[in-house]
Amino acid sequence: MSDLVPLQAVLNARTSTLLGEAAGAGRRGCPLSDLRDRLRRAGLRPTRQRLSLGWLLFGRGDRHLTAEMLYDEAMRAKVPVSLATVYNTLHQFTEAGLLRQLALDGSKAYFDTNPSEHHHFYLEDEGQVMDMPDCGITVDSLPDAPEGMEIAGVEVIVRLRRRPGSRQS
Ligand SMILES: [Zn+2]
Repeated sequence: MSDLVPLQAVLNARTSTLLGEAAGAGRRGCPLSDLRDRLRRAGLRPTRQRLSLGWLLFGRGDRHLTAEMLYDEAMRAKVPVSLATVYNTLHQFTEAGLLRQLALDGSKAYFDTNPSEHHHFYLEDEGQVMDMPDCGITVDSLPDAPEGMEIAGVEVIVRLRRRPGSRQS
């Protein structure tokens, strides 16, 4: 993806500019300053690593990815981070409410850049996660929550497999 290449240059330029001037002045509408604000509002200090990873994560609409997938993107974009840092950052973002962790598969954690409640298709063999269309499902008969508890949310995962003979697009 060629749009990843200039990332580090953009971050370098933005960071040095921001360091050299009053923060926020004349930066309205800049995605990077939006990201800084978003991190601050979530209670996270906008460090360089969080900005770099946040830029990769949130710059392309709603998506679902594992720490390994984000790490690969970071390597391709020449962002100098370790896999451990990627893990830590994903968990910090999740705790701050910027991401939602999906319980799809015991062996790897998927993170959703859309933290609002919604349902998913999961193509198990290929590890592919897709949002279900809004009208995709209604859950209308839930059991009562156990004594002293209330239902906080309902997530539906519909597991898919390819039909025999169908081609992978
Ligand atoms: Zn989703």
